Amino acid sequence: MPRLRRIADLGEIAGKTLLVRLDLNVPMQDGRISDDTRIRTHVPTIRTLRERGARLALLSHFGRPRGKVVPEMSLRPLLPALEAAFGEPVGFASDCIGEAARQAIAAAEGLVLLENVRFHPGEEANDPTFARELAALGAAYVNDAFSAAHRAHASTEGVAHLLPAAAGEAMAREIDALERALGKPERPLTAIVGGAKISTKLAVLGHLAERVDHLVIGGGMANTFLLARGFDIGTSLAEHDLVETARQILQHAEGAGCTVHLPSDVVVARALAPRVSNRVVPVDAVRDAEMILDIGPKSVAALVAVLEESKTLIWNGPLGAFEVPPFDRATVMLAQEAARLTRQGSLLSVAGGGDTVAALNTAGVAQDFSHVSTAGGAFLEWMEGKTLPGVAVLMA
Ligand code: ADP
Ligand code: MG
Repeated sequence: MPRLRRIADLGEIAGKTLLVRLDLNVPMQDGRISDDTRIRTHVPTIRTLRERGARLALLSHFGRPRGKVVPEMSLRPLLPALEAAFGEPVGFASDCIGEAARQAIAAAEGLVLLENVRFHPGEEANDPTFARELAALGAAYVNDAFSAAHRAHASTEGVAHLLPAAAGEAMAREIDALERALGKPERPLTAIVGGAKISTKLAVLGHLAERVDHLVIGGGMANTFLLARGFDIGTSLAEHDLVETARQILQHAEGAGCTVHLPSDVVVARALAPRVSNRVVPVDAVRDAEMILDIGPKSVAALVAVLEESKTLIWNGPLGAFEVPPFDRATVMLAQEAARLTRQGSLLSVAGGGDTVAALNTAGVAQDFSHVSTAGGAFLEWMEGKTLPGVAVLMA
């Protein structure tokens, strides 16, 4: 079995300069960081490496400058936030390769931030020459940016071939959690897949159908499956051109011994708006002018029973239009139930996806899940069963 190389595998690092790939692509509003989760994620790795006496040159992308220097996409404005989070001064190099980088590394006390790697076209092209110029700056490489690991770029993949390479602590924690959830899970294993559209999650559904014991389909995408089962869904969001695909996924799942759970009752309204009047109906009683905006209480109760029997849960996608109460009810109730089962030790729960994380925060339970992934694209590709190049290159 291939094994993830970790910081300890690098051996003695005291006094050496390490290249450390972070994801500092934080959301900004009016020149201020609006959410510093990504920075905080990297604190354990930075602390560990610094305590072991390594000098660190930090690499990251920021935005999409497409291989050109775009001053608005400089990493420099992040310095105060990094110094606050890491608890020591952070130097800065106006270029991530060459003399500017070398001099800044030599001048820094122990931490130096190198400018946006995507200012060079060689980054996204995974150009070997650019990767060699990065590698020339350090004695070893640590990648702590799981969220960028689905891209084979020079700073996430190419450079790892050229130096002793290992996963940082956040990267390792993420891979361990996903491995326990989907790689070697304790069964029964249940997946909840929700969200707006099937089209964005076809590969996820296909891969999960082959591996999980229970596949729960909710959210807007359940509507297309209800169409495939012959129900009228009124004005609900649906992808009519994917009804046949939905039918195939259902067949595929059955063939693989996976039980698919579609809602048996739903919450409907005439529009998606706050305080709109709504009603709960069985799935065969949706009127022409109504749309499905959440799964109903009977469906939630059935899912609670499934969760109570499950050992592992992997969740992507809200069960309803959760941004507009009361259509957040099923998502919040099931999230609280998953949190309770996790707290009592009977469930390993892993969730990911931008809106899913927002929904878990709305429900106030994100910290109770075993692991919540903020990795976005990389998390979804993992759910699709894809090999992530930035992870593969760190395997021994
Ligand atoms: P994630 O970001 O977690 O991967 P998605 O982006 O796939 O999740 O889906 C989230 C979106 O799905 C939310 O905006 C939510 O309002 C929408 N959604 C869920 N259920 C419905 C529904 N029944 N009708 C319309 N939109 C829905
Ligand atoms: Mg989303």
